[in-house]
Amino acid sequence: MYNPASRQAEEFINHEEILASIQYAQENKNNRKLIEGLLEKAEDLKGLSHREALVLLECEEPDLADRMFQLAREIKRKFYGNRIVMFAPLYLSNYCVNGCIYCPYHLKNRHIARKKLTQEEIRREVIALQDMGHKRLALETGEDPVNNPIEYVLDSIRTIYEIHHKNGAIRRVNVNIAATTVENYQRLKEAGIGTYILFQETYHKENYEKLHPAGPKHDYAWHTEAMDRAMEGGIDDVGIGVLFGLNHYRYDFTGLLMHAEHLESVFGVGPHTISVPRIRNADDINASAFEDAVSDELFARIVAVIRIAVPYTGMIISTRESKATREKVLELGVSQISGGSRTSVGGYAEEEPEDENSAQFDVSDTRTLDQVVNWLLELGMIPSFCTACYREGRTGDRFMKLVKSGQIANCCQPNALMTLKEYLMDYASEDTRKKGEALIAREMKRIASDRIRERTKQNLKEIEHGTRDFRF
Ligand code: SF4
Ligand code: SF4
Repeated sequence: MYNPASRQAEEFINHEEILASIQYAQENKNNRKLIEGLLEKAEDLKGLSHREALVLLECEEPDLADRMFQLAREIKRKFYGNRIVMFAPLYLSNYCVNGCIYCPYHLKNRHIARKKLTQEEIRREVIALQDMGHKRLALETGEDPVNNPIEYVLDSIRTIYEIHHKNGAIRRVNVNIAATTVENYQRLKEAGIGTYILFQETYHKENYEKLHPAGPKHDYAWHTEAMDRAMEGGIDDVGIGVLFGLNHYRYDFTGLLMHAEHLESVFGVGPHTISVPRIRNADDINASAFEDAVSDELFARIVAVIRIAVPYTGMIISTRESKATREKVLELGVSQISGGSRTSVGGYAEEEPEDENSAQFDVSDTRTLDQVVNWLLELGMIPSFCTACYREGRTGDRFMKLVKSGQIANCCQPNALMTLKEYLMDYASEDTRKKGEALIAREMKRIASDRIRERTKQNLKEIEHGTRDFRF
């Protein structure tokens, strides 16, 4: 039976409830009165239930769909302004005992080169990332208790935080590792991780089991209940996501929002972020073999409705997506993007030989971080390297309270400008620097508080003179 507050995967992600929601949305996709009511409700920024959101996603009335896109843009502007937080993935190891059929790191792939970074190699990767200008990483590693035990992940996190090359520093390490025990989540928390990220891939149990035929990940309940264990272990910022294309989008879209509702109802705080990856080609993976591919148009709709349904949750897209797609979804709701990413183990310090594809997925957006920053500036957006909340202890419900009160904008805007200034001083090309300085001058005016604007001005000057790491 459906129960969002249950701790059992099949009760909070309930198959019958998802099917009933899909049917309800199909029956109401032209119901103008209902859809207008939902849009009005969403304008109050209180979000929508999974069922209501699915009706919006399916809406076939063009004028109402336009209103929906407009509302997503407004919500994005209101909560996130024109700031986009930058991050990069760091792959530690591609040893994996699982059998995920959409990932080239699956156990049976014998022709991919297996690699696990030593702490010295991690140092080199992190220096390369710091020299690009990154401050925020997402650690990625396959599941392998022998090659990648939790101790290895913890050592790697320590190594990453310790490195300070020139003015560089990684100030927030988010971690994307396999579902684990409450005790291991506690250890990750103690190691100072930011967000714990785990993608569900698909919420459809039967398909999930087929897509994950081997290894611990085959266990649907273990995987689906992982965020509950992470929160029990004290990690209060968790990031969820599905891999669109593995299963029918309606099902996974609904499951994703039910998962958010579940976390909110049990722990009083929903997910910190939602990621929206789409399946991509890779070494022995042909994305076109998956029948449930999501078109660019539908993808934009999914992003817009997620923005409306969970206005306070950050949304992430990676370099899987092309420049054109990224541009479209940035204004609709995405608040974090990766830049200059390498999706293979050791790919930052050393370029991978062209004939050797050991990346987890093909990257569509192959631009350097400086090119991505330059492009965002041209779009009038503020590339932000801010990591302040986690370092100030603003996580979980403390963070959500600030976001819901709108007060967070008083921190985000100056922090974005100060971290952008650091980037311009330390890493940017001449052209990016000029565009960035002009943007900072314009955007300073948008800091509402006189006191904060004045302090930001002082801090910007001090950054010019070599001081780093100011934050509100
Ligand atoms: Fe392993 Fe993750 Fe790839 Fe699955 S998706 S094979 S768990 S690395
Ligand atoms: Fe994110 Fe907090 Fe920085 Fe705003 S102030 S960008 S919410 S880390």
